[in-house]
Amino acid sequence: MRHPRQVRPITNAVPPHNRRRRGLMIGLAVLAMVVAGMVLQTAWQVTRDNAGASSPMTGATAGVVRPGETHKGREDFTQPVDPAAEAATQTTFLDLSAITDTGRLQLINADHAVPDQNGMTNLVDAWPTVPVEDQSMMLDATALSSTEAMFSAAESAGVGTLYLTDAYRSAATQQELYDQAEDKSYVQTPGHSEHETGLAIDIGVVGMTEDTFTDTDAARWLADNAWRFGFILRYPSDGQQSTGIAYESWHYRYVGLPHAWVCLSEHLTLEQYVERLRRDGGQTVTLDGVDYTITYVTPRDGKVGVPSEGNFTISSDNTGGFIVTQWR
Ligand SMILES: [Zn+2]
Repeated sequence: MRHPRQVRPITNAVPPHNRRRRGLMIGLAVLAMVVAGMVLQTAWQVTRDNAGASSPMTGATAGVVRPGETHKGREDFTQPVDPAAEAATQTTFLDLSAITDTGRLQLINADHAVPDQNGMTNLVDAWPTVPVEDQSMMLDATALSSTEAMFSAAESAGVGTLYLTDAYRSAATQQELYDQAEDKSYVQTPGHSEHETGLAIDIGVVGMTEDTFTDTDAARWLADNAWRFGFILRYPSDGQQSTGIAYESWHYRYVGLPHAWVCLSEHLTLEQYVERLRRDGGQTVTLDGVDYTITYVTPRDGKVGVPSEGNFTISSDNTGGFIVTQWR
């Protein structure tokens, strides 16, 4: 796993025992300064040590410990840091069967089918939480509550009353749609539609007078604002080369934050975003005062590394890896 400049791997954080050691160093430095004030001749030597000059006793740089750096000198009161022990305090290796996979960042497209064991979504009735074309529509519970908030914000913004024209589809329904479609550039083959995950929605606007949804104020508002609710425009107008699907101004996919923001602000399709995370190993994002650390992990021996403490979610990417999203 490579870590370019913008990546801050979880295991590189300064562990608590290093912070304590830095406190001790500062205390000793203050004591040294007091002694320096009392004995002028000694002062020069102590100040020189604290400024980072080479110590004649250890040959190591003493005094200043920078963030993420392990202090190497003063062997009389420090123990060498065991990298394995340090890593163990940061990462826990969980059995794949023990993780709660949200599935939110799963790539579902022509090359990647909906997984057989796609038990991650929690399907619930969309009606009456949001307006729907058909009262039997279902959606993942988190995607639904985000849809509700998004439709409400759209109404407040004056772009009209939005409703679901499509939501979860069973594999059988997808097969029917595919068989009926004359233009297959808008329809995925059965088993390959993200509608089958319960995380995708198609949106309409009540009383539309424009010829197509693309021409509505609602479509423009969604393109700019859906990210706030964790949704991405899944098939953008210039994305067909990577998504394999023509522009669909009405189709949104729930991926959650901060991923929806990264895709929009860095102009990435989900295919491009997942590929970049896999290549770079992850990235950090600060959004609305929240610091996110996104890490791409590949399972080894049936186990996957997750943060030992703090808030995080994990999603398989449906190409063999997992994306861990940690925030604080
Ligand atoms: Zn759709």
